Amino acid sequence: MPRTALRICPLCEATCGLTLTIEGAAVTGARGDRDDVFSKGFICPKGAAFGQLDADPDRLRTPLVRRDGRLREATWEEAYDAIAAAVPPLVREYGAQSVGVVLGNPNVHTMAGALYPPLLLKALGTRNLFTASTLDQMPKHVSSGLLFGDPFAIPVPDLDRTDFLLLLGANPIESNGSLCTAPDFPGKLKALRARGGTLVVVDPRRTRTAALADRHLAPRPGSDALLLAALAHTLLTEKLAAPGALEEWTEGLGELEAALGSFTPEAVAPACDLPADEIRTLARELAAAPTAAVYGRIGSCTVEYGTPASWLVDVLNILTGNLDRPGGALFPLPAAGPRPRPAGPGKGFVIGRWHSRVSGHPEVKSELPTAALAEEIETPGEGRIRALIAIAANPVLSAPDGDRLDRALAGLDFMVSVDPYLNETSRHAHVILPPPPPSQSAHHDFAFNGFAVRNQVRYTRAAVPLEAGRLDECEIHARLVLAVSGMHGSAGPEAVDELAVQGALAKETADPGSPLHGQDPARLAGLLTGESGPERRLDLMLRLGPYGDRFGAAAEGQLSLERLLAHPHGIDLGPLRPRLPGVLRTRSGRIELLPDPIAAELPRLRAALADRPAALVLVGRRHLRSNNSWLHNVPALTGGSNRCTLQIHPQDAGRLGLTDGGRARITAEGGSLEVPVEVTDAVRTGVVSLPHGWGHDRAGTRLAVAASVPGANVNQLLNGTRLDRLSGTAVLNGFPVELTPLP
Ligand code: SF4
Repeated sequence: MPRTALRICPLCEATCGLTLTIEGAAVTGARGDRDDVFSKGFICPKGAAFGQLDADPDRLRTPLVRRDGRLREATWEEAYDAIAAAVPPLVREYGAQSVGVVLGNPNVHTMAGALYPPLLLKALGTRNLFTASTLDQMPKHVSSGLLFGDPFAIPVPDLDRTDFLLLLGANPIESNGSLCTAPDFPGKLKALRARGGTLVVVDPRRTRTAALADRHLAPRPGSDALLLAALAHTLLTEKLAAPGALEEWTEGLGELEAALGSFTPEAVAPACDLPADEIRTLARELAAAPTAAVYGRIGSCTVEYGTPASWLVDVLNILTGNLDRPGGALFPLPAAGPRPRPAGPGKGFVIGRWHSRVSGHPEVKSELPTAALAEEIETPGEGRIRALIAIAANPVLSAPDGDRLDRALAGLDFMVSVDPYLNETSRHAHVILPPPPPSQSAHHDFAFNGFAVRNQVRYTRAAVPLEAGRLDECEIHARLVLAVSGMHGSAGPEAVDELAVQGALAKETADPGSPLHGQDPARLAGLLTGESGPERRLDLMLRLGPYGDRFGAAAEGQLSLERLLAHPHGIDLGPLRPRLPGVLRTRSGRIELLPDPIAAELPRLRAALADRPAALVLVGRRHLRSNNSWLHNVPALTGGSNRCTLQIHPQDAGRLGLTDGGRARITAEGGSLEVPVEVTDAVRTGVVSLPHGWGHDRAGTRLAVAASVPGANVNQLLNGTRLDRLSGTAVLNGFPVELTPLP
């Protein structure tokens, strides 16, 4: 008899609650969970394909270990033996920096990816950490770090209450939201308009989101920082800025007008290719709206001035008084996150506490640019990366110049991939540790609740028991920590979780500001519930968190794992509420509106006004049925017309002799590709668009569906030298390209 089970969807940031239909051990259906406190029944085509993804025959079922140059099926014991035999000796001989770690985007969609990588990095002691953030969102972390002192204090638009929403470089109708967790984002945009609100979209493409907007501005890609600076300039010079209550907590307001002095609408108009009047009108409308939120995403982040643009997004929210107020942009308060602390000075946020070995890139949030990974492996000398641990990461497709990285990975002494697939990156591994399908893993969103438009908490246990021969994903990670620590065989995976629990409780009970100060950590650990180490850790985080029961020190009925389990559809914790000044961790204890690193970047931005724009630049794009490179092996998500096409405006196509359905060679500083052409006026003149995450045509992978429609890897056009200077984020949008028709 079929049964049903709940599972939070891990396939994008919206985190919808799903009701799975299960027959035997197979997921045969997925629908939106109407009782889910957050998503209320919403589902998209990706979530509906959960069963196919779960049952993908190309998923690895056992570890693979390289022997005699070939990856062969192995037992878990053999896999961890191989890691234990390779990594600790390498660290002893060449030092901690000889091991690099790459964390891919799917990490933040799993519990294991949130709980164990920090322990792995601590065990290794390496500073060679590369993540998807420097291909995606690091500018936002940096601007939040500089403004608020905490790189994770990212305000999100209050979608359900705002009167005016300005979106830049974001296409949530396709992506379902990013750095803004909002199930049914499309429905929320329609509701905004239905209640008389205004939606303005800034995007060089007429995306499905732009088509829904009251106004669509299509500037030249990469000019977001200039446009935003001109909006701020207009607010300041026309005396429309009204920070209101924020003034008390903000320093640098007085200096801002001078710093943005030269960014008049007239000055930026040619670079943005927008009329100055339109920029002024937008600034006035933004100021006049009862409440408003400005939100910038990938198209404004992965560009040359990504950090200044991200900073200016919040400058506008502050100048209009919309930061930290209902209807504006608010800071979420996740249930498993830290408790709010009293207002006051914090540690602040700095960039460049260390630098990358080869090119001297500054560290940001303890990470180095993923674009620099290949050179750190290839370049001889002390500190060269000789071994790599890649967790849910496929940088051969997602980082600039995958061919170079492909060659570099082939030269590693040792590589471990934690990955369900033999893909373009994991094919270089010496050991592959495959996690089970998502139906066999428990789930809580540690990462995305921190960006959610409503405070809520949900947890789903594994919907299907672990298949014979599989290891739980958390156990895979815990054993990896043991193996690299030289503890393989001498401790079990539960020891890793217990050490984490003990460490957290020791810190808590030693903190004079904690309600648990002075209590016995061992007694508190004994009170934790849960069937596994990860559940005990979740219980601990919930109980110590903002809504937690503090082990009885808080009022009756507060949050714990036990209480959460009694609410399988989740617990609604209410709309976002103002959190200033408690959220601030700057050294001044105030919002530092004009931080030094940004002020130092403004002359470069000013100089960009004089740059001669390239005739043709490239931007990426998102498709509802895709998410980076990791859903291209699911037939239900890959059928239909080829989505990896080069979109070009009819005028540009005519000028260059390109025809719809024909082929073109596209060339940029990093290389060239042959791509199918799609002529469409959905993209503005001077811009072409090619989606990322494709290029599944390398030998040695086991991705039958993806390989049958491989597409072209757009990142091959880059050589990895174009970065947003402050965040080390690769410029993946708005770089110059040339096109020639192919027969
Ligand atoms: S919107 Fe995202 S979370 Fe929701 S069903 Fe689709 S893929 Fe899953």
